[in-house]
This record gives sequence, C-alpha cells and structure tokens, in this order.
Amino acid sequence: MPRKKVMAANWKMYKDPAQTRDFFRDFLPLVSGHDRDDIVICPPYIDLHAAVEAAKGSNIGIGGQNLHWKNEGAFTGEISGPMLTGLGVTHVIIGHSERRQYFGETDDTVNLRLKAALEAGLLPIVCVGEVLEEREAGLTDNVLRRQCVRAFHAVSAKKAHNLVVAYEPVWAIGTGKTATPELAADAHAVIRSEATEIFGGEFAAKLRILYGGSVKPENASSLMAQEEIDGALVGGASLEAKSFAAIVKY
Ligand code: PEP
Repeated sequence: MPRKKVMAANWKMYKDPAQTRDFFRDFLPLVSGHDRDDIVICPPYIDLHAAVEAAKGSNIGIGGQNLHWKNEGAFTGEISGPMLTGLGVTHVIIGHSERRQYFGETDDTVNLRLKAALEAGLLPIVCVGEVLEEREAGLTDNVLRRQCVRAFHAVSAKKAHNLVVAYEPVWAIGTGKTATPELAADAHAVIRSEATEIFGGEFAAKLRILYGGSVKPENASSLMAQEEIDGALVGGASLEAKSFAAIVKY
C-alpha cells in the first residue's frame, strides 16, 4: 500500500490573523480538489482560529506548533492538547529543532508532549534530526535512533497509529542547504528501521516520514520522488501561497 504523503507548512513565528486570512484566500483555490496528499498548515497559536475558520470545508488540516503535556494548570504561556482540539485543530508539531535549540526541549519532553497529543486525539508530527557536528562526526544514525527511542518510550503502536515523523537535519533548516534526496532517504530508512524495532514491521511500513529542511518549489519533486520520503515539512517556502501550492503539487 503506498503511503499518502503529508505536505505540511510550519509558519514558525510569522503572520497575524489578517495575514492568515489573506494566505487562505490565495491558497485555497490553488489546491482545491487536491486529494493526492494530505495538506496541513501550522500557524502561530494566535492564528489558529482564523486558520480553522478559513479552512472549513476544505481539504486542509490545521496544526499547532507545540503543546504542553498537561491538560491545564499554572503554566503561564503554555497551551494544551484539549485547547487545540477545542479550536478545531487536528495536528501538532512536536520537538521541532528550534524548540530543542532555543527553548530547552529534550527527548524526554518530546515524549511527554507526544503522549499528550495522542491522548487529545491530535495527529502528532514528531521532529528528529542531527546537527552539523553530529553529521560530520558520523553520528547521524545514532542520534536519530536515540531521538526515536526516547520520543516513543512507553507509547504503544496502537496508541500511535496516526504518528508522523519529520526528519529535519538541523543544518538544512532555514539555511538554504537541502539534504540530497539520497541522503534524506538514507536517514528515513534509519528512522523506519528504528520504528520497526519499537513498534513492529507492520506499523513501520505504514509510518509516514516527512523530510524538512529548505524544501522549495525547485527541489520538491526530486525529494518526493524518493520512495522513502512521505511528504515534506516546509518552513520559509510555506509562507507564500503560490510557493507552498507549488510544493504541494510538486
Ligand atoms: C522547518 O521549519 O521545519 C523547516 C524545515 O524550515 P525551512 O523549510 O525554512 O528550512
């Protein structure tokens, strides 16, 4: 069974609600009727309501960029799974390298967030990936395996049935440097082999593994041609409707 690709946009800390509405006005006609792939847009929290409203009745899912592992509590500035689903949000990014790099995210907090997302009924997009020093030291496979083992600790295959993983080599994010399709496919194969160890072969065969790191309209089709690559997580090039639509329709 071929895996349906997921084309996901990570808007990071860009756009306000008015800009979000403008984006959807331009983007929706470009992708209407496109059901070859799943399309997901993850805007900042303050835009989620506008995005959910704008995407109503379309083929586009809306995702958060993070969530806390508790449902509620004295955690100033945080937001929970039930808060996201209550807004009509269906997806959530977990463990993005910018969270790991700037906000103290660890493999263990990724695990807590993943469990909370699954509990809330969100589709989690768990990000893994090595930094440049790790790649240059030949540690990529170890890093990816460690990140998967810890992220998926005590998570059952049944519970994680809708899990999506994004391989995002940190050296390729926002840098204009893209992993070659072959290099990305090799990393995906490592992740799939670790998923086989953890969840079993049947689960791993269905697991969708996205590539992220300077995906653009010009390189999307060669990346997506790799059998191991089940979609893309796109930052910079997802901010403009035409550019993201060109990636979606690679
Ligand atoms: C990302 O933010 O997940 C990402 C891959 O960014 P960019 O496409 O800008 O490299």
